[in-house]
Amino acid sequence: MARIAYINGRYVPQSRAQVAVEDRGYLFSDGVYDAVPIHNGNLAFADRHLDRLDRSLAELRIAPPMSRAALLQVGHEVLRRNGVRNGGLYIQVTRGVAPRDHKFPKGIKPSLLMMARKWKAPAPALLAKGAAIVTVPDQRWARRDIKSISLIANVLAKQAAAEQGAFEAWMVDDAGMVTEGSSTSAWIATANGALVTRPNGHEILPGITRSVVVDVARDLGLILELRPFSRDEAYAAREAFLTSVSNFVLPITRIDGKPVGEGKPGPIVARLRAAYLKMARHD
Ligand code: PMP
Repeated sequence: MARIAYINGRYVPQSRAQVAVEDRGYLFSDGVYDAVPIHNGNLAFADRHLDRLDRSLAELRIAPPMSRAALLQVGHEVLRRNGVRNGGLYIQVTRGVAPRDHKFPKGIKPSLLMMARKWKAPAPALLAKGAAIVTVPDQRWARRDIKSISLIANVLAKQAAAEQGAFEAWMVDDAGMVTEGSSTSAWIATANGALVTRPNGHEILPGITRSVVVDVARDLGLILELRPFSRDEAYAAREAFLTSVSNFVLPITRIDGKPVGEGKPGPIVARLRAAYLKMARHD
């Protein structure tokens, strides 16, 4: 089935979808995006994702391209036209098209793009074995809470991981504290079983899967510590894992070549993953 994208009011074959060369997203990365998970044909946690999109737009003073109800309607139509029951909906909004000049142009309309795609279920072998990650310096700007389409530092971090045969890179700030993964949120469980993840702030993207797992952990009565943790603490963790819309909750069993705990996926991650999927799928 040919993939269909929505672009500025039209549904078009994705291979032929086009934006103007003077789109400010193309010239300046002047735009934001979000990715909403699709579980059993539904947009899961849609309000949390659209709240985050609204916030990203407001921080950059880009006008919302349409109402939330209209966005949801277009989003559902895109997943219907692409026959996606399990995957993700990508939504991107840029400031719009104008002659190249850094300051905000007046009187332009934002550009809106939506695409849907099926995701392969995470490979059972990866789940059984757990992922290997590496650490890299965090080279990003100071407003990582905005879901900007400017992702070059994240791209370089993921590429560094791939070149070392790792699944993900955890970025580390100047104080030696882990911020987050290149496209995932970072978590550890300490020796006494407490779950630790960095609090939201300008230093990290407020991951939606992370926010759901925080709720799930509270419901399960687990000890939760919202604080930064260091690379050394991660090396000494009992369990480690990452969260994101496409990986759900994924165990990490090696960090920089060192085994985490016993070097195999642990019970806390398994419980969180099951509880997260139950919520996402409305089981
Ligand atoms: N951090 C970064 C830098 C990301 O790009 C993502 C994925 N968009 C995440 C964390 C995870 O967020 P979510 O759970 O909303 O996918």
